[in-house]
Amino acid sequence: MNTGQQTCVAAPVVAKARRQTELAGAELAKLLRGRVHLDEPMARHTTFRIGGPADIFVQPHDMEDLAATIRFARDKGLPCKVIGNGSNVLVGDAGIRGLVVRLAPKFSDVEWLEDGALVGAGARLARLVKEACEVGLSGLESAVGIPGTLGGALATNAGTDTGSIGDLVARATVLDHDGELREWTAEQFAYRYRYSNLHSSRASVICAHLRLEPAAKEDVVAKVNRLKAKRAGRQPLRAWSAGSVFKNPRAVAAGKVLDRAGAKGHRMGAAEVSRKHANFLINRGSATAAQMRELIAWAHELALGRYGIDLELEIELVGEHCNHE
Ligand SMILES: Cc1cc2nc3c(=O)[nH]c(=O)nc-3n(C[C@H](O)[C@H](O)[C@H](O)COP(=O)(O)OP(=O)(O)OC[C@H]3O[C@@H](n4cnc5c(N)ncnc54)[C@H](O)[C@@H]3O)c2cc1C
Repeated sequence: MNTGQQTCVAAPVVAKARRQTELAGAELAKLLRGRVHLDEPMARHTTFRIGGPADIFVQPHDMEDLAATIRFARDKGLPCKVIGNGSNVLVGDAGIRGLVVRLAPKFSDVEWLEDGALVGAGARLARLVKEACEVGLSGLESAVGIPGTLGGALATNAGTDTGSIGDLVARATVLDHDGELREWTAEQFAYRYRYSNLHSSRASVICAHLRLEPAAKEDVVAKVNRLKAKRAGRQPLRAWSAGSVFKNPRAVAAGKVLDRAGAKGHRMGAAEVSRKHANFLINRGSATAAQMRELIAWAHELALGRYGIDLELEIELVGEHCNHE
């Protein structure tokens, strides 16, 4: 399992970096119309409600702001992470160095077409599913209950056994790491199970054209309701989580493996394996990233020891996770 672990830095180095961050934040704020925050707690921006501060947190007002932010990061040599609703990430307790860019609630325009939609990356999937029901377009039903944005869904190829978002992409507009706009075809995302190459190309998706099928509204609504009920019966939707922590191996669901191994209810501090779904690790209120990481490592070892199954992370570890985690 790739732990993505980074080490924490010594205090004097942190103090110097802090001064540089303040200067960079002030310089960036002068260039933008959108908001720039220093030391923004990432727990506020993740569905796990876990995560230390982002050095510089930016909410661009428009495309010009976003391009300026990307170029600023490139010119200053600062890491830059675009996030959506933070529903597939575990941010370390020591936070994120460099820039974090949150597109939502801007970049959320949606234009419905006869056989699809043009959708901003900041738009929530929940809104898309609801509006697709209203206009009678089928294809997005499997996204019901996924609490992410279109951008996050396109990056992770979010979906279920009934379909993934990548299946719907006709083309998309992305901003490359030089701040230049590019048009991508669906093939350029190289979609696989919970994978796209947006990460490796360091591009940010701005909007996408999704292809959908005209259908009777009542049929779309009925399918959405069926899938919603199925999800509600199986998943702890009110708990603070990031959904399934591990990807499903080919032959068997990760949740089943962990359930059979007796993982449900196991705790590390306030991090707990859900009693409803063993692949959902939940924050019972005050869990730290360190505790969640310990629980993840424990569950991984359990599946490996009992069944020889090497579970792979579905969630992404972001930022600095200290050595003791
Ligand atoms: C209760 C619950 C149920 C869930 N069920 C499912 C499910 O059934 N299927 C499933 O696949 N997932 C599921 N998830 C996980 C998660 O909701 C999805 O992966 C979602 O698509 C992530 O979207 P986000 O906006 O929250 O992305 P984030 O978590 O903010 O980001 C995820 C990744 O996408 C990148 N990213 C975000 N926006 C952009 C952008 N504009 N351009 C480039 N990269 C970007 C980020 O850098 C990061 O690497 C669930 C989560 C929860 C909490």
